[in-house]
Amino acid sequence: MPVSASVQEKLSRLGIHSALDLILHLPIRYEDETHLFPIGDAPQGQTVQIEGVIVNNEVVVRPRRQLVCQVEDGSGILVMRFLNFYGSQIKTYAVGKRVRLLGEIRGGFFGIEMVHPKCRIVREGESLADSMTPVYATTAGLTQNILAKIIRQGLQDAQTVQALTETVPEKIIRKYRLQGFSDSVLCLHRPSPEESIEALQTRTHPAWRRIKFDELLAQQLSMRLHYRQRRSRSAPVLQQKNRLTNQLLAQLGFELTSSQFKVYEEISRDLAIAYPMQRLLQGDVGSGKTIVAALAALQAIDNGFQAAIMAPTEILAEQHFVKLSAWFEPLGVQVAWLSGGLKKKQKQAALDKIISGTAQLVVGTHALFQVQVTFQQLGLAIIDEQHRFGVHQRLALRIKGAQSDLMPHQLMMSATPIPRTLSMSYFADLDVSAIDELPPGRSPVVTKLIADNRRDEIIARIHRACQQGRQVYWVCPLIEESEALQLQTAVETFQHLRKTFPELNVGLVHGRLSQQEKAEVMLLFKQGKVQLLVATTVIEVGVDVPNASLMVIENAERMGLSQLHQLRGRVGRGSEASVCILLFQQPLSEIARKRLKVIFEYTDGFEIARQDLRLRGPGEFLGARQSGIPMLRFADLEQDGELLKAAQDSANEMLNNYPELAQRHIARWLGDKAEYLRV
Ligand code: ADP
Ligand code: MG
Repeated sequence: MPVSASVQEKLSRLGIHSALDLILHLPIRYEDETHLFPIGDAPQGQTVQIEGVIVNNEVVVRPRRQLVCQVEDGSGILVMRFLNFYGSQIKTYAVGKRVRLLGEIRGGFFGIEMVHPKCRIVREGESLADSMTPVYATTAGLTQNILAKIIRQGLQDAQTVQALTETVPEKIIRKYRLQGFSDSVLCLHRPSPEESIEALQTRTHPAWRRIKFDELLAQQLSMRLHYRQRRSRSAPVLQQKNRLTNQLLAQLGFELTSSQFKVYEEISRDLAIAYPMQRLLQGDVGSGKTIVAALAALQAIDNGFQAAIMAPTEILAEQHFVKLSAWFEPLGVQVAWLSGGLKKKQKQAALDKIISGTAQLVVGTHALFQVQVTFQQLGLAIIDEQHRFGVHQRLALRIKGAQSDLMPHQLMMSATPIPRTLSMSYFADLDVSAIDELPPGRSPVVTKLIADNRRDEIIARIHRACQQGRQVYWVCPLIEESEALQLQTAVETFQHLRKTFPELNVGLVHGRLSQQEKAEVMLLFKQGKVQLLVATTVIEVGVDVPNASLMVIENAERMGLSQLHQLRGRVGRGSEASVCILLFQQPLSEIARKRLKVIFEYTDGFEIARQDLRLRGPGEFLGARQSGIPMLRFADLEQDGELLKAAQDSANEMLNNYPELAQRHIARWLGDKAEYLRV
């Protein structure tokens, strides 16, 4: 399509780089200019087109300057009103002119009216549009008319027609009663007047259904293809020997919940198979994922392989190290620690143990990604709080394990529960296990919303809790604009609370402390020697101190839902009733109010995630902008669940029996974006 460089540039701003992109730039809505309604008979509250002659035209100034015209068509009179207008319009819409208006009719003070309609001067008997008028998403400097024209030209291009060939096998088309691909595309750009505008607008029309299906199918195909490619690699066979694992279970102070047992069985079965496991273990905060990870690691170790567990923060990694060492050392299993904060000599010692295989389990942070880290025989890599790591880090770890021909198995854990439709789509390249119950004996956390000016009540509460031997978290506000300011706030809060509670030991933990300082404070808190811990959001993930039963979160309105849920999950870990107080500052924005309402009403992480998804949409929810996952443009996971299932089944069918069509379908929809999915 021959367009100027400046138009080209505008098109690329819309994500249109090829002829195919152009024809897949589908309308966001439609206007129906294919027929006229008589004024006296036109329905209110929906967009309609009418035609009439201007019988009156005046500029009134009450309450503000506006152009008001009366239009008559023999069946009735309608007021056309412009609140913003050019002087020239007064002349253009002179008495006696015939106009066609498109807009919504409302009942006004002076009878029915249209405010700011689309208005065009016409000759009597001028023909009507023969198809619904598409409205496209566009960008500054590119008018609707020009864009529509470029797309119309594109659709006539011979090359384009070729690009519209069918990629879905006849069998699948029949099974799901799908409309043809090229028919659908053409219909959406130029729907004939007989099509239901309602179905087009709500995207329930068969043509939309087909486009959504194809989009979902492309996603499923590329994800499943990637999944199959990984399955074609070899991984160590790690059999369930029940030796170390049973020893650990015997020495634990608790029984696994049936949910924990079920997911461990799923993981255990995968480990014993000769291709790399790619499993996501989901479980709400406090559901007990660590013990499941420990059992999986022991299964690897039982087979003479090493296991690694990686956490996103030093505090969390340290805590895993302490906990896992306590569990594993009685079994004679060697645990090594690796973090960026280690001194050179200690680090070298750790690296030596990892390469020689003396270290059977390695616990650490991002440092585990570094080039110098070479395992003797890594059998299983576990990534805790997976959502905190970028996609690229996932990739790095996969490469790391691949020094031999054997790829390590991989277990990812996440406490941000992913709603089912999301995991069926964006996580279709992973197997998913879910822990869906909490260990017994927990009492639910009671959440209280308190305006910032009622702090005194909270002070009394803290006194009471500590007198009863309980412990308290005080979480300082998140200040995204400035880390320095956040630190300052935390230090001031700490000093203030120390004065307020002279009889208590108050601790402070924040991101700027050294690894050792953090560990010391956390240990004191864990041992109960610190009763009140002032913290920044560094404690958000994973920290486990069951005796803490009260949490105060300042400026909760600034935090995201999953963050609040994670923070709140730090309490309610013992049998004692726990309370989480969310302090907020007024006035609340609309979105902040909605978030606080959700966190107040729900305690179940899955429900909170669902609400979060609804408030933010999948892009934000997944943080996909950073990770580069191509987002769905047409399909709506909430609305199109049935199509998602159909696409899932069809993808398997096509990969098995129509691999060539599958490749063409992926190329059509994802082009070079398919690469991102290979991560
Ligand atoms: P998360 O899933 O958030 O990582 P953790 O693994 O830290 O949760 O477990 C939370 C707490 O529950 C820990 O103190 C852990 O020892 C305890 N726990 C885990 N499983 C059980 C169980 N089956 N019964 C009782 N306590 C459990
Ligand atoms: Mg955890």
